[in-house]
Amino acid sequence: MSNGSGPEPAGTSGGETPQGTAREPSVEPVVGVVGGGQLGRMTALAGVPMGLRFRFLEPKSPSPVDWVGEVIRGRYDDPAALERFGHGLAVATYEFENVPVEAAQFLERETTVHPAPAALEMAQDRLREKDGFTRLGIPTNPYRAVETRQELEAALEELGRPAMLKTRRMGYDGKGQARIVESGDLEPAWQKLGGRPLLLESFVDFTRELSLVAVRGLEGEFAAYPLVENVHTQGILHRTTAPAPDLDPILQDQAEGYVRRLMDELGYVGTMAVEFFQVEGGLLANEMAPRVHNSGHWTQDGAVTSQFENHLRAILGLPLGSTEPLKWTVMLNLLGELPPVEAVLHEPLAHVHLYGKSPRPGRKIGHVNVVADSVEEALKVVARIEAAMPPGAGPV
Ligand code: AMP
Repeated sequence: MSNGSGPEPAGTSGGETPQGTAREPSVEPVVGVVGGGQLGRMTALAGVPMGLRFRFLEPKSPSPVDWVGEVIRGRYDDPAALERFGHGLAVATYEFENVPVEAAQFLERETTVHPAPAALEMAQDRLREKDGFTRLGIPTNPYRAVETRQELEAALEELGRPAMLKTRRMGYDGKGQARIVESGDLEPAWQKLGGRPLLLESFVDFTRELSLVAVRGLEGEFAAYPLVENVHTQGILHRTTAPAPDLDPILQDQAEGYVRRLMDELGYVGTMAVEFFQVEGGLLANEMAPRVHNSGHWTQDGAVTSQFENHLRAILGLPLGSTEPLKWTVMLNLLGELPPVEAVLHEPLAHVHLYGKSPRPGRKIGHVNVVADSVEEALKVVARIEAAMPPGAGPV
């Protein structure tokens, strides 16, 4: 069996490598990951020391996973590619939430898939997501589904300004959004986003943004990392501080309660992140990600067990690792352009993580974790690294 563009899947016997030598069946379990971006790459980097091998389904070449496992080059909705990908896997998972639900269901006939496709369905549609939060008693800011211009006007009347208009599907990192502050903003917002199913939500005057990364095992066991503080620039995560400074323990309890409820409802297995707005009265859920998350990257160097390792432990039915933070960590995203790596490594407290992606304006191409005894110390190091960033770096 040859796909013509990638090596023989591991775990099958009697195959030929492109070099023509016989391939031994894998002695190690093979984990399949749909998607070949940086989250897949970092998952593999966490799993190889655990004796795991990885296979990815990824249409694009080159991709961040090219050197960390076998890559099946194929579209996510191509049954032949899915079949090749799924064959002989110990378990399949995904590293982004816009995997077609039908593809995940197709894979379920071939192998075990975690998290279950129901979580994808919820995360792919902002309306389902918000309805899910509401049904489960998880506070969220007021919202209305909008299809037509008349509905937009009526929803604005009800929710008031400022408000955020968002596409229900395929929005991420602040894309597919428009802010409506004054009446003159309505027309440009409609021109930009109209014609698709939309969601209008009230603008939240938040104190800060927090997120909770948690993991749920096969038997329903649950572990959560501390809430972290996120700073976004133009809708893209810029910096995470872990744990969130000056955190009221009540907020941690509330967040864990909400996320646990959500995971239990979905029968979720694996790592999940939920982003919150902190407001005067507590927390408002903004969105959930049914996967490892950028605001959990600090755990690679700053926690006993990383979010990636815990995701793998969960989906393989292994005991979960401790989610305790080691010290204080500040994670800085590297967008668009990289600083000189030596400038980062010159800082003894900094760990660099590059994704193997070519620089492009606004693109996430790496991150740095600075682990220190205090937030102030970590922020000083981050400021020095930011000063070394080339002029083209940052969001666009
Ligand atoms: P999202 O794609 O929904 O996570 O939005 C990206 C970022 O835009 C959030 O992290 C916030 O910084 C900002 N944002 C999104 N929705 C709202 C809102 N309703 N009120 C205030 N800020 C928002």
